[in-house]
Amino acid sequence: MNIDAIQADITTLDVDAIVNAANQSLMGGGGVDGAIHRAAGPELKQACRTLGGCETGDAKLTDGFRLPARYVIHAVGPVWNGGERGEAEKLAGCYRRALELAASVNARSIAFPSISTGIYRFPIERAAEVAVETVKAAMSEHSTVESVTFCCFSESDLAVYEALLNRSAR
Ligand code: ADP
Repeated sequence: MNIDAIQADITTLDVDAIVNAANQSLMGGGGVDGAIHRAAGPELKQACRTLGGCETGDAKLTDGFRLPARYVIHAVGPVWNGGERGEAEKLAGCYRRALELAASVNARSIAFPSISTGIYRFPIERAAEVAVETVKAAMSEHSTVESVTFCCFSESDLAVYEALLNRSAR
């Protein structure tokens, strides 16, 4: 099992599954969601339309269509509301469910964006801690997933993830 962090546009990654930071409607939005829909093409929206939305903390799977990735896992992160409304637990749910869905289609490699830390305003340090801890705990249970990449959009986000991964490697 391998976990790493890179700085990239997640739509360019040649992995089995990329995760989308979607909203409950699953009908597209701004940020990484908009980028994934643009790159995957209109077939993605058609596929999402049949899914009936998604609860916060849960995720749903579609094909990747025109993306290099075979699958998109649409996870709905929580909107940050001060941290006392179960935000961390819901965020952890996104990572757990995404890994379960990846394993259900025998995906071996998966890439995550930094869910909830854009428009949804979850503080990056706390979100990255939840992401790294949850992925580490879940990976031992999902044997088909061999490689997890945290795909950061900014250099500063990458620095946060790298510090956490280096710390826990020691
Ligand atoms: P949310 O609504 O869950 O906060 P956003 O899309 O606003 O979702 O932001 C989540 C993260 O995705 C942010 O760190 C943002 O900078 C990043 N992001 C935006 N576009 C891309 C992209 N093309 N590839 C990877 N990450 C992206």
